[in-house]
Amino acid sequence: MNLVVVSNRVARARANEPLTGGLAAALLPVVEKSGAIWVGSSGRVRDGLHKDSFAEVQALGAGALALLDLPAAHYGGYYEGFANSALWPALHSRSDLIHVSRDDYQSYREVNAFMARALMRFRKPDTAFWIQDYHFLSLGAELRDLGVRHPIGFFLHTPWPTRAIIGAVPHHRDLVEAMLAYDLIGFQTDDDCENFLGYLQSELGLKIEDGVVTSRHGKSRCAVFPIGIDVEKFALQAAKASSHPDVSRLRRSLHGEQLAIGVDRLDYSKGLVNRINAFDRMLTSQPALKRTVTLLQIATPSRGTIEAYGNLQSELAKLVSDVNGRHGETDWMPIRYLNRGYSQTVLAGLYRTARVGVVTPLHDGMNLVAKEYVAAQNPADPGVLVLSKFAGAANELQTALLVNPHEIDGMARAIATAFSMPLTERRMRWEAMMRKLRAGTIQQWFADFSDALEDAQASNRTVVSESVAV
Ligand code: ADP
Repeated sequence: MNLVVVSNRVARARANEPLTGGLAAALLPVVEKSGAIWVGSSGRVRDGLHKDSFAEVQALGAGALALLDLPAAHYGGYYEGFANSALWPALHSRSDLIHVSRDDYQSYREVNAFMARALMRFRKPDTAFWIQDYHFLSLGAELRDLGVRHPIGFFLHTPWPTRAIIGAVPHHRDLVEAMLAYDLIGFQTDDDCENFLGYLQSELGLKIEDGVVTSRHGKSRCAVFPIGIDVEKFALQAAKASSHPDVSRLRRSLHGEQLAIGVDRLDYSKGLVNRINAFDRMLTSQPALKRTVTLLQIATPSRGTIEAYGNLQSELAKLVSDVNGRHGETDWMPIRYLNRGYSQTVLAGLYRTARVGVVTPLHDGMNLVAKEYVAAQNPADPGVLVLSKFAGAANELQTALLVNPHEIDGMARAIATAFSMPLTERRMRWEAMMRKLRAGTIQQWFADFSDALEDAQASNRTVVSESVAV
């Protein structure tokens, strides 16, 4: 099978650029090894693009990257508009943040159609297309309209919410109907898959049997494929990184304090305000912890042109400075707050330096930082993961300290418990999490989805003539 993987952005336009974002970080190692072509936006836009697309192709291990310029006229409406101001908030159960302009949906569909036309040049007789994430819900339908009968799979990296919440997205029926052009639709968790199937049944009146839905497009199989990480590579990287200057400087600066770490894109789904409030609450209720602990919060700016993100960045900066002002001393600050990216190697070393990993999103498809933190630990002296029960990763990492990120007192107590946890308990919890990570690596995820895509298409498209109109 000759695999063409499609995502909004590919891993990097330039070598050695830090990767921020779970999808890019996850796909890079598997695309490198599998020989797939990975197609996505170059991050540049062009005027006057309509039918023809421009792609810069770069070798990537056994595979290749194809970087595409997107049409300038539609990019804003597609990316900042419909994808990130309608779909992203709704998919993370924040329908209160949905904000769309009149033409955004049309721009979203136009960019999906543009991408479909661009993909035709990569089509060979044995090609299978694997489309990633919420930017391209309707790309499969556009490919079918161009006559493509090859297998087309789709994987959603974010959660899929309940019917009422997705129902707040303009044109939701149109979009979900378009998704049924995919042979295989993959989700991170059982809840996401069940919510999607529930929508198909109750909103669209479709019949589902064993996760297979029949529509006017034929059959689509819906299934769960929790994404993983390259565990061994990450563990090795973390061990090596302890001598990296950024990491050894951090260690030297600690003067015996224990470190907690948070690493996130600056996004309202990540629960950053609640996390800082919990750290504040912990220091207020247990003042003996002052000078003995520090939180290193890396929050990389993301989607800064969208108002909700700009507002969050200001709110967080103010909150951190308020907490530091109230609890800090001349030679100690409770929170070190950084707005920048780091290479994977440095990140791995920072995770390993921290006794506690704090990963407390309000909603998250999977959350790869949680998995990376675990993989990066020193087996002889591992740290403790404090994890939101609303991250997809909580289904697998059950021996983390699971918290409700809306409950600030509970989170404050969990962080304090993590700091004081004895070695035997830390090791027991960590070993159980590592077994889960090793059983579900990124390589396994890639292989499972590719195999399921081949199987799904073999059984799905033979029955188009008996199809039921949606
Ligand atoms: P999301 O995809 O919503 O950003 P994930 O936790 O699933 O969330 O993935 C985030 C990915 O981005 C991880 O692989 C993490 O290592 C990487 N990342 C996050 N922040 C930074 C940063 N400041 N520098 C480099 N990589 C980062």
